[in-house]
Amino acid sequence: MLALAVTAELEGVTDLQPQDTEETPFYYTFKVQCTSCREIHPNWVSVSRFETNEQSGSRGDANFVWRCKNCKREHSANITDTPKSYSQQSPPKAKNIIVLDCRGLEFVEFKPDGLWKAVGIESKTKFADIDLTEGDWFDYDEKSSEEVSIKDVKWEIRRA
Ligand SMILES: [Zn+2]
Repeated sequence: MLALAVTAELEGVTDLQPQDTEETPFYYTFKVQCTSCREIHPNWVSVSRFETNEQSGSRGDANFVWRCKNCKREHSANITDTPKSYSQQSPPKAKNIIVLDCRGLEFVEFKPDGLWKAVGIESKTKFADIDLTEGDWFDYDEKSSEEVSIKDVKWEIRRA
């Protein structure tokens, strides 16, 4: 199992998590490596926990089915659970957001395409459509009259 972990400095907000519902699925974007031939493929791929794709040879469905262009083997991956949220903490520590059950492939790099949400720590103000592609996010919490931010966002793919 592999996990996508995040480390981030949250100021004034907590419970950072992907906006990932059946109506608005989050597409987790990765670079993928074939564990049969060790080739790392140059194109980004996307995995959604609401998508099912059929595998060949009656092996059932998977969230992500992928054929390695190099060795022609078919591999798959599943997101095993609902995404977890990242709580504000000082100093920030890495936390797993999603866990992936990968068969014959590994995800080696994550690109944070897609939108995130968080809530004000004291105010409970809901912040939606947070874009983390630039690695930082800044906003203002009207209820607490405070600047809020997410900074130093680091992504890591690790064993789970
Ligand atoms: Zn391969």
